[in-house]
Amino acid sequence: MNIQQKLSILADSAKYDAACTSSGVTRNRNGSGTGNGAGSGTGNGAGSTLASGICHSFSSDGRCISLLKILMTNICCFDCKYCVNRSSNDVERAFFTPMEIAELTMNFYRRNYIEGLFLSSAVLKNPDYTMELMVETIRMLRFDYRFAGYIHAKSIPGADPGLVRQLGELTDRMSANIELPSKESLAKLAPQKNYPSILSSMAVIQNGIQNRGQLPSPVPVRSNVSSGRSFVPAGQSTQMVIGATPENDRHIMTLAEDLYRSFHLKRIFYSAYIPVTSHPDLLPVTVPPLLREHRLYQADWLLRFYGFTARELLDDSHPDLDIRMDPKCDWALRHLDRFPVEINTVPYEVLLRIPGIGVRSAQKIVRSRREGLLDFEHLRKLGVVMKRAVFFITCKGRKSPGTVENAELLRSCLLKESDTRLVSLSTFGHSQGEMKPRQLSMFESSPENTIWLPGREDRQKCLTGEM
Ligand code: SF4
Repeated sequence: MNIQQKLSILADSAKYDAACTSSGVTRNRNGSGTGNGAGSGTGNGAGSTLASGICHSFSSDGRCISLLKILMTNICCFDCKYCVNRSSNDVERAFFTPMEIAELTMNFYRRNYIEGLFLSSAVLKNPDYTMELMVETIRMLRFDYRFAGYIHAKSIPGADPGLVRQLGELTDRMSANIELPSKESLAKLAPQKNYPSILSSMAVIQNGIQNRGQLPSPVPVRSNVSSGRSFVPAGQSTQMVIGATPENDRHIMTLAEDLYRSFHLKRIFYSAYIPVTSHPDLLPVTVPPLLREHRLYQADWLLRFYGFTARELLDDSHPDLDIRMDPKCDWALRHLDRFPVEINTVPYEVLLRIPGIGVRSAQKIVRSRREGLLDFEHLRKLGVVMKRAVFFITCKGRKSPGTVENAELLRSCLLKESDTRLVSLSTFGHSQGEMKPRQLSMFESSPENTIWLPGREDRQKCLTGEM
């Protein structure tokens, strides 16, 4: 098998790792398209690099960078039931040697195709053996090829903590995937993995980040070359598959909150389960789960940047996010007693809770109102999404004319403004007929055989966090 064939298999196998912002996106020649991963691209137009496994991520200083995203191998001795690479699945297998990956990375880098590498792997023989190969690959890149670009590596579940530390000394970002939202689901669907070992890898990475420069480097360094690198400078992230198991959104957001708090993660990637494989233990996927994934990303932004807690967003009586609107709107509708608020006087923390006011517009409001009192027109110019905010605010003590206060009517108005689309289920299937958007009704819930799909605004909100 030549390098090109291996690349095709191992870039395609890596597409289910959601570790970069372009995962889950393909773009065809018309600039449209919503496929499922970096390696699965059908686009051959200018700028399309998807078929070679190139994705995009953000470095620690916020720059968007292109990464070569591949698996070291898809030969796996584990049998996770949700995974296309599981040992019992009949798929074409391939393996890159450390030297092959190092040379491939350098060749892509020299041609200016990429600025870095995202390296993950299936479990070849056992976790330690696989991690040793990954460490050797990145050590070779750093010391033999003197590659100083961005490297994101996945920790192999169950690997020795010493190897996790070694990888951390060589990479910019690391992730240890939590995989599924509960240890019961993990035991059922991925019996060779376990929560304690995954959490212990996260703790090793967190410990290395906290003690940067204070612990002796575990990486064997060539006598005349010093690593001089900081431990995982871009922090750690994790990935959770959602929709394959029965946990509700409340459970998922509470877990996310715990993980952010305990391990100071930079990001959690929620990966809507794609039925690439069938097994009786997997939940049947009857509707595309993409909108739920979007809502979880939006709720995640609210946890990280808007001061919300998981318990505020979801509780026993409201265990799942409303897929028809963003979670901030949904929260505000359930707390109408706190609105309207006067835009010229409320603290920044309250501004952040107003639907239609994102972090950037809240900061602009705080700066602008030092100059004088703001009115509705000022807010529009500052980037506030007035079609939502107008129901929840006053300016100089006055509400905007025509706003409604009745909760149900308000919900209907907000739904009508949303570009979340109700489509007929009959538009899905193997033939993937064209999805036909339907005008939203102000009062009906989802009629039978219809589902909600994310609109353009939904997709933007889950990427930018501006809600
Ligand atoms: S360890 Fe599990 S999730 Fe990872 S490649 Fe193997 S079967 Fe897939």
